[in-house]
Amino acid sequence: MTVSVTGATGFIGRKLVQRLRTDNHSIRVLTRSKSKAEQIFPAKDFPGIVIAEESDWKDCVQGSTAVVNLAGLPISTRWSPEIKKEIKDSRIRVTSKVVDLINNSPADARPTVLVSATAVGYYGTSETGVFDENSPSGKDYLAEVCREWEGTALKANKDVRVALIRIGVVLGKDGGALAMMIPFFQMFAGGPLGSGQQWFSWIHVDDLVNLIYEALTNPSYKGVINGTAPNPVRLGEMCQQLGSVLSRPSWLPVPDFALKALLGEGATVVLEGQKVLPVRAKELGFEFKYKYVKDALRAIMQ
Ligand code: NDP
Repeated sequence: MTVSVTGATGFIGRKLVQRLRTDNHSIRVLTRSKSKAEQIFPAKDFPGIVIAEESDWKDCVQGSTAVVNLAGLPISTRWSPEIKKEIKDSRIRVTSKVVDLINNSPADARPTVLVSATAVGYYGTSETGVFDENSPSGKDYLAEVCREWEGTALKANKDVRVALIRIGVVLGKDGGALAMMIPFFQMFAGGPLGSGQQWFSWIHVDDLVNLIYEALTNPSYKGVINGTAPNPVRLGEMCQQLGSVLSRPSWLPVPDFALKALLGEGATVVLEGQKVLPVRAKELGFEFKYKYVKDALRAIMQ
């Protein structure tokens, strides 16, 4: 397979590229910065990898078997009106561009699969609800971003199989939520963030990469598929498990106001969550390697 990947230089993308390379697929990295991508994927370690800036994306998409779309400004920053706009615009802009390139490819050079990221933020937040792929969308800002993001990906030509992966909080060593949480833990001696009652629908990065890989290769993976582990936890439990794995106490809560002071409106990402179940992945027979957060954290921290 020849796979073009946007956001390949990010936390999930880097792992996906490694996985695709292990199975000898050809990879085309679609990036905004060739020099940054060349540092992440040096030619000596990634022979044959193609790295392309936006002006050359067309040549990469044409002739690819599949496209994976992961690009977007990180949401885990302090939100200003400008940042909020860019959180949405970056996702729509890149998705739209990729879809246009797919649709405008000659039929005999058109990718047949688009695997596009979206997020469990689609469902809004709730301490009591349980969400699966058929649940309605929420009403908040992130739900709106996800709806538009997904809608843009679904504009791909009808002959293209589109899989939308609604990703939960991705746990892994070199980035994502844990990279943010661990310093908090160290600063505050650990403890729940906010009330601790908010749901935390997590997934180990290896399972997510395997799910994306399955979506690329298995024609049954079509439409929305939640990318979350089968056993979400409340954030209080997650923090307790993290404290236990890090051998740090987990008793001093990080108060809402501290998070709001640090992250502004973006603190809602941490202070509110949703319980999301991977119903489609299970129906499709996907095997999660990490079903419980304790096992995932142990594997990551060892
Ligand atoms: P990262 O932030 O690590 O990487 C995202 C990539 O997107 C970057 O490497 C960059 O690639 C590109 N990018 C960054 N800013 C912009 C921008 N302003 N405009 C266009 N492209 C930009 O993300 P992750 O790997 O963690 O996540 C991948 C996708 O999955 C994201 O869309 C994210 O929203 C989604 N997701 C992730 C979750 C998580 O827990 N990590 C949870 C839910 C969803 P380059 O510089 O090469 O162009």
